[in-house]
Amino acid sequence: MKKKVKKSSPGIYTKAVHSGEERKKYADSLITPIVQTSTFVFHNTKDIHDYTSKRKTRFEYGRYGNPTQRVVEMKLAKLEGAEDCQLFSSGMIAITTTLLALLSNGQHIIITDDLYKKTLQLCRDELPRFGISCSIVRVGDYQELRQAINDRTALIFTESPTNPYLYVLDLKRLTQISRKAGIMLLLDSTLATPFNQRPLEFGADLVIHSATKYLSGHNDILAGAVLGSKKLINEIRALHKTIGGMIEPQCCYMLLRGLKTFPLRMEKHNRSAEQVATFLEGHAKVKRVYYPGLKTHPQHCLAREQMDGFGGVVSFEIKGGLRSANRFLNKLRLCYIAPSFGGVETLISHPASITYYDLSLKERLKIGIKDELIRLAVGIEDAEDIIADLEQALKTG
Ligand SMILES: *Cc1c(COP(=O)(O)O)cnc(C)c1O
Repeated sequence: MKKKVKKSSPGIYTKAVHSGEERKKYADSLITPIVQTSTFVFHNTKDIHDYTSKRKTRFEYGRYGNPTQRVVEMKLAKLEGAEDCQLFSSGMIAITTTLLALLSNGQHIIITDDLYKKTLQLCRDELPRFGISCSIVRVGDYQELRQAINDRTALIFTESPTNPYLYVLDLKRLTQISRKAGIMLLLDSTLATPFNQRPLEFGADLVIHSATKYLSGHNDILAGAVLGSKKLINEIRALHKTIGGMIEPQCCYMLLRGLKTFPLRMEKHNRSAEQVATFLEGHAKVKRVYYPGLKTHPQHCLAREQMDGFGGVVSFEIKGGLRSANRFLNKLRLCYIAPSFGGVETLISHPASITYYDLSLKERLKIGIKDELIRLAVGIEDAEDIIADLEQALKTG
């Protein structure tokens, strides 16, 4: 793993607790208050004038921002090493607003084939209705990616690691390609989080997160974030003010609370997932394990170079096909069968029967979703207890 260079700026645990927060808060409160209001008062016409002439920054109306939201945005920006951040009510509205803000009729984008399913649908099925074309290239095929660029290409949108196969993309190589072509690189870094990977340091233009996952961490809210330069975030914020999709103050607070323990949780997710992946790899009923932290992972060396940890998602193939997968799932006692990941509870999902239920077996196999594929989102319970549950469920008979 990459050696952490000691910098003069505070460490990530300190940032998670203190960054973005005012030292002195309303009513001497230690904790940032939830400003539960839809609008903000101007006390006189001078107040209005100071605001409209930009002499004073303040809040105006709930859709345009809120003080509790702003604290979370500044904290996230510090964690990711970004100039600015815009929060949204979900990861998907963060992605949609970002793409609509940056793209125009006649332009072209490139995505990779194992993107988050709804992102893929948005780019492949919806954007073309607005005159924005989309090429889908195989993840990890840099030659195909280079060839897909044309003079109308505005950006590349991809993820690393991907889900459910945990494919790791070469961030250095991606930025070389995008910069040479003079186009933007957008990276959905939800699986990694800034604890494990900071794509802006590699030259990505924007980082997107579903804060529903590790950043909030408790499986109790939905939220999204986009991070990058002030200039780009301002462009996105301008459209966001028109579209809406804003996050509620109460929800901002829950995200703020989750963020304070985010590095602690990530440390545990990373460690437990490695233990679980190692256990699964050694189990006779398991055909194959996908986890970037394993030496057998095809991009293990690359992952070690560009990541500080490998996250909490482990995918694996169980021997015996669909019947065996169903039997295993039905025997679990601790792990919940549920979509999503990044929360404290260990969740397990069966992509073939949930995310891709609408595809035929042939279509599923074409995109590599086998019946025996299981995705495990390792929570923060004792790794031994998670492993014991998996072990009893893997036992035949
Ligand atoms: C969950 C997820 C999203 C969508 O985020 P929501 O908060 O559910 O809207 C986007 N990308 C990735 C990689 C995700 O895991």
